[in-house]
Amino acid sequence: AQGSETREFSAEVGRLLDLVVHSLYSEREIFLRELVANAADATDRRRFEALTDGARALPEDAKIRINPEKDARLLTISDDGAGMSKEELVSNLGTIAKSGTRAFGQKLESAKPEDRPNLIGQFGVGFYAAFMVADKVDVVSRRAGSDEAWRWTSDGKGSYTLAPATREKAGTDITLHIKEDADEFLDSWRLEAVIRKWSDHIAWPVTITKDGKEEAANEGTALWRKPRSEITDDQLNEFYRHLTHNFDTPWDTLHWRAEGTIEFSALLFVPGSRPFEFAEQTRESRVRLHVRRMFITDEAEILPTWLRFVQGVVDTEDLPLNVSREMLQATPVLARIRKAVTNKVMGELKTRAKDEEAYASFWENFGPVLKEGMWDDPAHRTEVAALSRFRSSAVEGLISLDAYISRMKPEQDAIYYLTGDNAETLAASPQIEGFRARGVEVLLLSDAVDSFWPERLGTYEGKALRNVAQGQTDLEKFGAPAESDAEKADMETLVPALKTALGETVSDIRATDRLVNSAMVLTAPEGGPDLQLQKLMQRSGQ
Ligand code: ADP
Ligand code: MG
Repeated sequence: AQGSETREFSAEVGRLLDLVVHSLYSEREIFLRELVANAADATDRRRFEALTDGARALPEDAKIRINPEKDARLLTISDDGAGMSKEELVSNLGTIAKSGTRAFGQKLESAKPEDRPNLIGQFGVGFYAAFMVADKVDVVSRRAGSDEAWRWTSDGKGSYTLAPATREKAGTDITLHIKEDADEFLDSWRLEAVIRKWSDHIAWPVTITKDGKEEAANEGTALWRKPRSEITDDQLNEFYRHLTHNFDTPWDTLHWRAEGTIEFSALLFVPGSRPFEFAEQTRESRVRLHVRRMFITDEAEILPTWLRFVQGVVDTEDLPLNVSREMLQATPVLARIRKAVTNKVMGELKTRAKDEEAYASFWENFGPVLKEGMWDDPAHRTEVAALSRFRSSAVEGLISLDAYISRMKPEQDAIYYLTGDNAETLAASPQIEGFRARGVEVLLLSDAVDSFWPERLGTYEGKALRNVAQGQTDLEKFGAPAESDAEKADMETLVPALKTALGETVSDIRATDRLVNSAMVLTAPEGGPDLQLQKLMQRSGQ
């Protein structure tokens, strides 16, 4: 056709398509979840854009339509969303903008089949799931605010074609040419079951055409607004999966309604497993803000960064529907919501921490993130310290600072710790021999953040935190293991000899009581950066 052009997919897309199509066979129905989620996202986006650009206003009856045509073997998903310009079609559907695509391919190849659908959503490659059931996909899109429309067509095998098209209104139609073996997805009843399962809570109406009539397929009820007694566990779990793209069940679910000076409903989850790529995700909290059911933004930073593993929805009546970004930044309403939600989550973690075993599974997933609070957040530092768990030289498993203090020796007034790359190496470190020999417990800190928070925290319950690899140890007060006069005399000749040999490379050499089996140990000067921190600084080129 005139003005049409064919382009190659970026190499990454080609490889990915192959993987997606061939790896997800058992869960093919999720293609519909992905396409409906995209349609809902695009509709949300248009609503938000219209706040600052009247030309993009949403039609009153905005919805998502699913239309199967049995004879023609076509399935079309249409929306009234923001649409895509020609450039956006190329960059959103022809390349993969997000980094980590290679990592995705590797993960997908090695993942268990039941984990694969999970990966698709997390890596933002949902659109390509269409090729699991279609041998050809047409996308006709008209960007809101523009009168141009474009058609993107591909068989998912290396290239796609772009051509000018017409579309009466802004929005997008995705038409799937259904494969021979995927007949089931031309059946309205089957489609309805899939929508009920995966997309019931989509806030925009979803309709399915049956015998020429559009019928509502989703409830569209904002689950978080219903009383707990009216929600089943299955519904909660489905919503969690939709929200987090996880396929497990949540470790914790918080559902409450705040009433009084500020009113909101909240439904929050602590995931049961750490999402893939969690560490590389943004450091911001992604809890979604809704106003009277309508999605507003997931960038309101409702929770502090060190609680960013919590996901969910907060829905308030105390903000106007057309709240703008600027207003969000200035409004005291949001500040109050933040405070209330943070307190609620902290209270819940405190309660859940009483069950040591369950808490340990949470801690393994998200402990390193929570600990950032001791570094980042003066207002919550002590609370986070109380919720933190550590490996120790004295016992197996995880312990709290309170447990450490309860085991301190009568003459002990400090909490001793050592930082390094992993707990096993630390447990075998010569730095703690002297402590172990005297029955003094040492915390073994091996997360990256552990190089930073202890100094910020300073003390806990009046006990100073002391790095055993830094400066003088206090071991003499715990009664040194006996030492012969001969050993002392040896030291008097050895130390000066070493000083001459090592010269400027070290700042001092001292006899120490911190060692039992090892001959010598490197120590950082008091007040200087410790060895672990020096290593990190070297690694980051400082
Ligand atoms: P993700 O949704 O995680 O970004 P997808 O592969 O599902 O990844 O979609 C890729 C991109 O294509 C989306 O981010 C969006 O910009 C665009 N897109 C997909 N479907 C639509 C649609 N129906 N309307 C507008 N844009 C869309
Ligand atoms: Mg998507």
